[in-house]
Amino acid sequence: MARVCRTGFVVSGLLRRTLRVATHAALTPRLRLVRLRPETPFPYRAGQFLSVEVAPCKRRAYSFAGDPGSELVDLLVDVAPGGDGSRFVEGLSTGDAILAYGPQGGFVLPRPLAPVTVAVGVDVGAAPIRSMAHEAARRAEGGGLRAFLVWQDLEAIPSGEPFDFPGPPSVEPIHLQADPGGVWLARIAALCPAAAFLCGERKALARLEEALCAAGVDADRISTEVFY
Ligand SMILES: Cc1cc2nc3c(=O)[nH]c(=O)nc-3n(C[C@H](O)[C@H](O)[C@H](O)COP(=O)(O)OP(=O)(O)OC[C@H]3O[C@@H](n4cnc5c(N)ncnc54)[C@H](O)[C@@H]3O)c2cc1C
Repeated sequence: MARVCRTGFVVSGLLRRTLRVATHAALTPRLRLVRLRPETPFPYRAGQFLSVEVAPCKRRAYSFAGDPGSELVDLLVDVAPGGDGSRFVEGLSTGDAILAYGPQGGFVLPRPLAPVTVAVGVDVGAAPIRSMAHEAARRAEGGGLRAFLVWQDLEAIPSGEPFDFPGPPSVEPIHLQADPGGVWLARIAALCPAAAFLCGERKALARLEEALCAAGVDADRISTEVFY
């Protein structure tokens, strides 16, 4: 069985954070990049997430999407689901204070990186992959990371500033509408990665996990973070 990082909504007074909205940008009709300034800076690892209070007694998990070495915290949010979390993020303005709990989660890159580590984000699952790319680049291990962003909808693809990636690693986009035969699964599986980090939609991740295992990748070396 693959290692699944379950969402542990560990709520502790020690983890409570107040952050203020520094910038709020619409990257595409459905993707928002929210840049937050913590009132008190805190460390986190790429792949972890914050549990954000989006309404009284309601929280939503959002992965860190930026450089863990930056004083600002980036969140990449898909507002298409239209629920409490989406409405909360849509309603944010510069200077607003938000309450969050974290960092939480164990979906993190090992130290050191295994040669040929693959990180795949499906749609908004790109969020932790962008953060992992930053962390690997800071650790000067970016060359060992192959990152893929898989987009199911061409209109949902952000590009350029402010959705930039550090280099290395190389980041390859895959457009599923241009790949109805599922060649992307075979391409990634053919790398036979020593470790794989997969994030995003459950069904797409299950297909990729199956392809990796069929190519001989040990399931213990596959970590998944399911968003929905
Ligand atoms: C560990 C973890 C990290 C996460 N990180 C992020 C992140 O960085 N960015 C982000 O946008 N979301 C992230 N999510 C999902 C997020 O927590 C919310 O579930 C999502 O934003 C929808 O919230 P909502 O209140 O708007 O809709 P809800 O009312 O909670 O959900 C409505 C429906 O939409 C489905 N759904 C949720 N997300 C999507 C989606 N993107 N596309 C299509 N259907 C969806 C849900 O399964 C549900 O059926 C993460 C989830 C987990 C568990």
